[in-house]
Amino acid sequence: MSEHLRDETSSEPQASGGPSNFIRDIIIEDIKSGKYEGRVQTRFPPEPNGYLHIGHAKAICLDFGLAAEFGGKCNLRFDDTNPSKEETEYVDAIMDDVRWLGFQWDGLYYASDYFQQLYDWAIQLITAGKAFVCDLSADEIREYRGTLTEPGRESPYRNRSVDENLDLFARMKTGEFPDGSRTLRAKIDMSSPNLNFRDPVMYRILHMDHHRTGDQWCIYPMYDYAHGQSDSIERVTHSMCTLEFDNNRPLYNWFIEQLGIFPSRQYEFDRLALTHTLLSKRKLLKLVEEGHVEGWDDPRMPTLSGMRRRGYTATAIRNFIGSVGVSKTNGITQLQQLEYFLRQHLNQIVPRVMCVQKPLRVVIENYPDGLVEEMDAINNPEDAAAGSRKIPFSKTLYIEEEDFREDPPKQFYRLAPGREVRLRYAYLITCKEVVKDSGGNIVELRCTYDPATRGGNTPDGRKVKSTLHWVSAEHALPAEVRLYDNLFLKEDPNEVEEGQDFTANLNPQSLQVLRDCKVEPSLRDAEPGTKLQFERLGYYCVDRDSGDRLVFNRTIGLRDTWAKIEKRATTGK
Ligand code: ATP
Ligand code: MG
Repeated sequence: MSEHLRDETSSEPQASGGPSNFIRDIIIEDIKSGKYEGRVQTRFPPEPNGYLHIGHAKAICLDFGLAAEFGGKCNLRFDDTNPSKEETEYVDAIMDDVRWLGFQWDGLYYASDYFQQLYDWAIQLITAGKAFVCDLSADEIREYRGTLTEPGRESPYRNRSVDENLDLFARMKTGEFPDGSRTLRAKIDMSSPNLNFRDPVMYRILHMDHHRTGDQWCIYPMYDYAHGQSDSIERVTHSMCTLEFDNNRPLYNWFIEQLGIFPSRQYEFDRLALTHTLLSKRKLLKLVEEGHVEGWDDPRMPTLSGMRRRGYTATAIRNFIGSVGVSKTNGITQLQQLEYFLRQHLNQIVPRVMCVQKPLRVVIENYPDGLVEEMDAINNPEDAAAGSRKIPFSKTLYIEEEDFREDPPKQFYRLAPGREVRLRYAYLITCKEVVKDSGGNIVELRCTYDPATRGGNTPDGRKVKSTLHWVSAEHALPAEVRLYDNLFLKEDPNEVEEGQDFTANLNPQSLQVLRDCKVEPSLRDAEPGTKLQFERLGYYCVDRDSGDRLVFNRTIGLRDTWAKIEKRATTGK
């Protein structure tokens, strides 16, 4: 766990980024100096080419969180300038995810709303001699651009007349030329140390339907030509993006200055990266397309929809984002830090119930046949208002297979032959006999109970070292439980041998399905999305695949102390 987590005293870290946040400091300064008349306008600008992931949550919390903190506004703007990858499905999913995270946008916009304005501005730049139509191919443009150590060369088309440029650009728009045959480029400086200034492409030809504008356009603006102006149109004051756009900032400013439009300003912050996790829509799309996962909302995916299905709460995610803060250098955050905030929140809010994942039959020999007692069980020890419920107890029960050892190792305090343990909320039982099948497998335990220990109390004060969860066999509901582990084995999923890609690091055991689980009957009508703690096992939620029988996703385990002891014993660590 990182230092600042240990120091965490407030239970509600600020979603917009913890105590020190240099962007917040800039905003405070700008308000003080009267820049933008004290107004704060931000935007969250996803490209609708995939589902949002936990990295986007950081941007969302900053964009929306800082606006809210200063009484400002935040727009949701779809950066939809690339029709080849964008789809309406993604637009809808992104809106759902932003709302689910707990934010509501002020304006809802699309960069494609600005295509006409951007086109008009391009004509303005051509007329001012600041843009030209270039006939070089993409490869040639790259070759002419030069490198960090070598200046670029000017395109042979750079000195076309304004009239010729206006004519060619108009004809690009009407569809006269094939894809890739021409571009519109800004005329800046082929020897600039910033490669982005070496006559960057503003428009490309692409005869392709767009998810909103259909076939209205066959020229599309590039990111650098669209983004700053879109901010400017929306009078965005503080335009936040990740560090890799650092080198694009001068160009962002250049277009705004040349056009003399509203002076939006860009600020860069560090990208969220998590161990064992990939945060790139392109790579997540590959996992979906190649069937490594079930879909964008597979509970193993770091997408907001996957995490939601897995049982994450928006609060846990916002608290985590608050804890990682904002800085100017990229780092990597341990997945355990996210899990810490998840457990912390679920512990406060979810009811406890009992589920036996790998059932072992227990018959209480001295318990009356046919008797069913209703045991009082507390729903949430962290929340008195959550109340209590009744759970049925009877002669035949299930306990967890792992809670019994015929030949118990040292420090294993659970059930064993001749040993007494407590059944949660019920009685103390003692194991009298182990029944095996012809193959030597344990099929049943014969036990006795002490009627004087109802509720788990021992009137004579005798101690038992272990309390087990259980369900009544005849009352339990059948259930399927899906256990998830990290999708990637390596901390850095991108670390691969030559010739491999990140899929080589997929964890073949990231999903384990237990089909023969038993849950207590109070869960009969649990709706998909319901979050629970299965006592002693972890946090779970009801999956939407539930039908005749319940399906649960394990959101996250409790810390399993026995697994640790056993590991220490076998590995010496
Ligand atoms: P990806 O590579 O996953 O597609 P992106 O940056 O291309 O990410 P966009 O849809 O363009 O995705 O991102 C919208 C906003 O979210 C941008 O401002 C971007 O900087 C921010 N963002 C994306 N990934 C992260 C991340 N890992 N951490 C913080 N912010 C992010
Ligand atoms: Mg992108």
